[in-house]
Amino acid sequence: MGDLNTSMIEKYRNDFLKEVEANVEEGQWVKMCMQCGVCSGSCPLGPSWEHPPQEIFMMIRAGRRDEVLKSESMWMCTSCYNCIVRCPRELPITHIMHGLANYAHRLGLAPKMNPTRRFAKIFWDNIAKSGRVNELELSMRLYFMDGFKSGVQKGLEMKDIGIGMLKTGRLNPFGLFAHKGCKDIKGIHKMLKKAYEIEDRKKGFVA
Ligand code: SF4
Ligand code: SF4
Repeated sequence: MGDLNTSMIEKYRNDFLKEVEANVEEGQWVKMCMQCGVCSGSCPLGPSWEHPPQEIFMMIRAGRRDEVLKSESMWMCTSCYNCIVRCPRELPITHIMHGLANYAHRLGLAPKMNPTRRFAKIFWDNIAKSGRVNELELSMRLYFMDGFKSGVQKGLEMKDIGIGMLKTGRLNPFGLFAHKGCKDIKGIHKMLKKAYEIEDRKKGFVA
C-alpha cells in the first residue's frame, strides 16, 4: 500500500500547474480551461494525437508532469489557430502548446526522435549560421538525418520533384557554395549570443 501511495504521488505532482505557470509561455492561462473540448474538436490533427490540447490541460492540472513533458503531442501543433479562435475562454492554446514543447526541450525531456523537434533543430542551426536559410544545405541535412542509406532512398523517391525544380530554376545545385548570408553576420551572432545570455538568466526554473 505504501509503495502504491508513493508511486501515485510521483505520478500526480500537484505543483506541476505552478511549474507550468512559472516557466511556460502563457502557462498562467491553463487554469482558465473549463474542459469544454472545443479546442480538441476543432484541431484538424487532434484525433491523431495521443493527447489533444484539452487533455494536455487536464493532465497539467492533475499533475501528470512526466506524461505531459515527454508527450509527442505538443510537437505536432501546426499553429493553424483553429483552437484559439474557437475557445470560449480565449486561451492562447497554440502558444501554450509551443511553450510546453519548448520547456520540455529545455529540460531535456522532449522526445528525442520526434520529427518536428529534429527539423526545428536542423532549421535553427542552419539559419543561425548566417542569418539566412541555406535551402540546399537544409534539404540535404533533412534527407540524410537518418543516415546515408535512408538519405539516398529518400532522394530517389523524390527525384522527379527534384528534376522538376532544377528545370524550373527552383533548385540551384551550386546553392551550397553560392549561398549568401546576411550582410552583418557578426552582428547576427552577437545578437544571438545576447539572447542566449538572457535565456540563461531566465533558467531559474521553478521545478
Ligand atoms: S476550448 Fe478552451 S476552455 Fe475549452 S477545453 Fe479547449 S482550452 Fe479549455
Ligand atoms: S493551433 Fe495547434 S492545437 Fe490548435 S487547432 Fe491548430 S494544430 Fe491544433
